[in-house]
Amino acid sequence: MHFKILESNIGNYERAKKEFRWEAEWKELLGESLSDFVNLAELSLDRPVRLGLKDHLALRHLNKKGEVKDYHYGELKSISETVAAGLQSLGLKEKASVFCLLGRVPELYFTALGSLKAGMVFSPLFSSFGPIPIRTRLNIGSASALITTLALYQKSVEAIRHEVPSLQVVILLDATPDQARSLKCMTWSELISQKKCSFLPVKTMPSDTALLHFTSGTTGRPKGVAHVHGAAVMHYISGKYALDFHRDDIFWCTADPGWVTGTSYGIFSPLLNGVTSIIDECEFDPNHWYQTLQNQQVTVWYTSPTAIRMLMKAGTEMIKEHDLSSLRLVASVGEPLNSEAVVWGQENLGVPVLDNWWQTETGGIMISNFRGQKVKPGSMGLPLPGIEVILVEQRRNGEVRELKEPHQLGEIAIRAGWPSMFQSYVGEEGRYQRSFSHGFYLTGDLAKKDEEGYFWFVGRLDDVIKSSGHLIGPFEVESVLMEHPSVAEAAVIGIPDPIAMETVKAYVCLKAGVKESEALQSELMAHARKRLGAVIAPKSISFLSEIPHTRSGKTMRRLLRARELGLPEGDLSTLEGPS
Ligand code: ATP
Ligand code: MG
Repeated sequence: MHFKILESNIGNYERAKKEFRWEAEWKELLGESLSDFVNLAELSLDRPVRLGLKDHLALRHLNKKGEVKDYHYGELKSISETVAAGLQSLGLKEKASVFCLLGRVPELYFTALGSLKAGMVFSPLFSSFGPIPIRTRLNIGSASALITTLALYQKSVEAIRHEVPSLQVVILLDATPDQARSLKCMTWSELISQKKCSFLPVKTMPSDTALLHFTSGTTGRPKGVAHVHGAAVMHYISGKYALDFHRDDIFWCTADPGWVTGTSYGIFSPLLNGVTSIIDECEFDPNHWYQTLQNQQVTVWYTSPTAIRMLMKAGTEMIKEHDLSSLRLVASVGEPLNSEAVVWGQENLGVPVLDNWWQTETGGIMISNFRGQKVKPGSMGLPLPGIEVILVEQRRNGEVRELKEPHQLGEIAIRAGWPSMFQSYVGEEGRYQRSFSHGFYLTGDLAKKDEEGYFWFVGRLDDVIKSSGHLIGPFEVESVLMEHPSVAEAAVIGIPDPIAMETVKAYVCLKAGVKESEALQSELMAHARKRLGAVIAPKSISFLSEIPHTRSGKTMRRLLRARELGLPEGDLSTLEGPS
């Protein structure tokens, strides 16, 4: 309970922003003498150990059986050295790509930290991917090594292995040496059996590649996005300011490391800030999640709007059965967070859900609501100190113009050069170049900014609906539908119309126990018309038992549109569903 009265790290936002200096943050991270190299894993483990956190809990792993395994900073440091030495002993060179195809098991975290220490590039794959998406991603990243389980190997790798010519070694966590050999693989035990007295982290530079991530594939084929070791300082400051990390915090990031949130904040940011992370191997289940929050006394919780909405759908009874009083901060990312959800947090968890915004490409949180600052439900918040965010309008001739007046609709653009800025779209140099203009990175997301500088998400450029001369953001319509007590979730798309260009079509998933009916359909239409006006309100509403999501929890509007129009469904590798 005493955690709640801790002063927030951001203090006064305006002052923090004005006084912010990247050099000062680097100095804080690297020490006065500023060491001559920047290695993300070294800073995540060796630095906390140098600062006296050897015996402080770094990771607490909860496996599917409910067993708990703790790893302290000192222990994790030496495990990462063993893994790094093991990878080197296989003849893998610096910059080699090490992929993991694993659930949230400890070895995934060991590999991430070990490969970076060895100067290699780490790339996590979501464990439910089938063979084709795995082949595509291994080839994009020129994978040298893959770490997986026997079952996942047989299910999704064996058949395509010969189509990934760069792949030198496959390591199986749970196979016996004989099994592994018969499959031309090796075992994890063999990897870590290398005896080495000491291992010194490779002296990587801030601009050296550290991580390769794949985007969620919400709007098309997933892109391979490379990130650098210098991102460390962004992970550090965003943990400090946006997640308000304090030394004794117990932090739970629910994202899978297959997505960027699950590494930037599921691995590095908490370690860089010396806090304890909970890793829960279990999948989403409302009762189980409340139990994890209660039993682990989580103080800072980072999750997604989809998860929050599912908890809202599950009702409040379950919350009352749990003691969630440790929670000091709850944050969410990945999708627009409707204002209902923010208020629900305040009423049911004792704290508002703080929305923040970023992308795989930005590597870290760019816009955030901060603890202790004014929270405007429905807004993504304010730019992080050190990050310059503007809204721009793209002209026909390719020029961009900054929109300075409040409430104008524009594309979010970020001054290039922030430390976690992506280094490339792997194999797509042209696309990378095209995403920058006049020193700004153009994000493809549309927003408005109010008089106080708060950003309000409107939609993705690809999802925005153009109807009778209006630009309609799906989120605005979805939020209004979700205000209705019968609605659990909504998704809105534009469908071609000869007169209006596009008309608004909504899909609605009802709360548990609510029956579909024509009367309810009319009621929802009337509710939307009243709240939005006739131009923006949907022209038709269909009920769906489930809204399609990516595995990272994003509404796949492009799939709804394709289905509605009978078009090809496109790349579905990231679509949520049984694996
Ligand atoms: P792809 O680029 O392959 O289509 P993606 O953009 O969904 O997939 P990510 O990088 O995982 O892949 O997601 C970033 C996007 O998620 C943002 O560009 C934005 O559209 C959305 N997003 C993230 N946070 C928020 C937020 N707080 N509010 C609204 N949208 C958000
Ligand atoms: Mg994207």
